[in-house]
Amino acid sequence: MIENQLREIQLRDGLAAVRRRIDRATEDAGRTFSPPRLIVVTKFHPADDIRTLAALGVSDVGESRDQEASDKSTQLLDLDLHWHFIGQLQSNKAKSVAHYAHSVHSVDRLQLVAALERAMVVEQEKSGRAALECFIQVSLDEVDEVHRGGAVADAVPALAEQVASARGLELAGVMAVAPLGAEPEAAFETLAAISARLTGDYPFASGISAGMSQDLEAAIRLGATHLRIGSDILGPRPAVR
Ligand SMILES: *Cc1c(COP(=O)(O)O)cnc(C)c1O
Repeated sequence: MIENQLREIQLRDGLAAVRRRIDRATEDAGRTFSPPRLIVVTKFHPADDIRTLAALGVSDVGESRDQEASDKSTQLLDLDLHWHFIGQLQSNKAKSVAHYAHSVHSVDRLQLVAALERAMVVEQEKSGRAALECFIQVSLDEVDEVHRGGAVADAVPALAEQVASARGLELAGVMAVAPLGAEPEAAFETLAAISARLTGDYPFASGISAGMSQDLEAAIRLGATHLRIGSDILGPRPAVR
């Protein structure tokens, strides 16, 4: 069908353009020895798009709503994908997320860590699968008016300790979304400082999940190890149903 072919061309072009931006920023930052990992954020877009992206070499996908992610991952079980859960997560969804996700980027409270641990203990008994990578989401908003989730910086040590000692969870690092309407550099600099403090205690937890379509260059400059890019690859998101 012509529509499918057009979509494939769009995705291929979007992906190529973003990869070029990442390569250039990685080179400019003198980081060619440790390039960031690209997570393609596919929320609100159909499973067919993920199939197309996988054929184009994408291995990491990001989703922000449990029901949607659960449905898509079930439809795409034949693909070897690494599923990243990046949205605000209610504790009662931990069990579902633990079933398909390999990483959760939005760990922001002790109660959620406990729920993920319980869920992963059960999952690992059933399937023997690897530990769930957990990024602690930090809020960088001065005042969290839009409430996009995230713990305050002072809460990071206690969260890190709980994740690090939990069965079935692996402390991967920190995550943040740059505040709206502010320079992303300052926010990512703060995140880098929080990361440096964390790796002082947990040297292996060196992940920094930062950088979206608008600010990936700044994120790469300031040490992002995982980029979460949606709209510049897939186009605008369809209206929320
Ligand atoms: C949607 C989303 C992204 C992707 O944002 P784009 O601007 O579409 O690249 C990244 N991170 C989180 C947490 C998101 O919810």
